Amino acid sequence: MIPLHANSLLLVYFFGVGACIGSFLNVVIARLPNDESVVRPRSRCPTCKNPIAWYDNIPLLSFLLLRARCRHCGARIALRYFVVEFLMGALSAALWLRFGWSWEMLLWLPMFAALLAIAYLDIDEWWVPDRIVFPAMLWVGAGSFLPGGVSPIDALWGLGPALLAVSVAWVFQKLTGKEGLGFGDVKLLAVLGLATGLMGGLGILVLAALQATVIGVVVLLTGGHQSHKADGHREGQATENPNDDGEEEEEWIPPPRAIPFGPFLVLATFEVVLLPSLFGDLHLRFVQMIMESIG
Ligand SMILES: [Zn+2]
Repeated sequence: MIPLHANSLLLVYFFGVGACIGSFLNVVIARLPNDESVVRPRSRCPTCKNPIAWYDNIPLLSFLLLRARCRHCGARIALRYFVVEFLMGALSAALWLRFGWSWEMLLWLPMFAALLAIAYLDIDEWWVPDRIVFPAMLWVGAGSFLPGGVSPIDALWGLGPALLAVSVAWVFQKLTGKEGLGFGDVKLLAVLGLATGLMGGLGILVLAALQATVIGVVVLLTGGHQSHKADGHREGQATENPNDDGEEEEEWIPPPRAIPFGPFLVLATFEVVLLPSLFGDLHLRFVQMIMESIG
């Protein structure tokens, strides 16, 4: 249900709440790959190690007021911190415009936060962490018992696209000997299917694949994607089993010019949830298009 007169004050409020959540996501994205606690210690400047005071840690504003530099040593603060806070603020405001005060709002706000963190961790590390995915599964599974969204039966059917993806990936691997889809993507697709049901999950999969194809070609033409993973950024895990046969998730090194699929699944979810009239049935139209071109 869409509120006809969106209260602009509440819109600002949800943008602010989202920016604060984004600030926390920045900590998660920075610390989770190194297996550090996301609550302690307090945020420090990565260069001079000085703790960041609360007044220098205000989402969005501090970045602008400090002109993207540490107060103590002048080291540059990465633009990403601002971008993540802004994105989460915008997504929260958009969710409120879409759902208003409702169960769906309660369900999707934490999910969008989890998905944004997953997208960035996948871009950086080719990693969809179980510590985010499994709680998210419980969250959306429980959410299916609430009124408004998908039903529990629908949620179970929503695991279909993940199973489909596993089968296709298995056949692809048997035929080409290459891994086309990581298990992280499958887990992510399972969460998204649980949250949106069978049709939602299929729509997200098709939409993600379409956009990944377009953007993948652009990225390849402009020099490929860089990630920390290739240079052994995640120390500790990378050296854990030097004699392993390479089947461990941590051991896998992405091809030099590949891009992760997870961010596209996340992007497609944002689109399908926020703009169902534009993206909701895209996969149905896509299937129809294929059917028409065949016969
Ligand atoms: Zn500093």
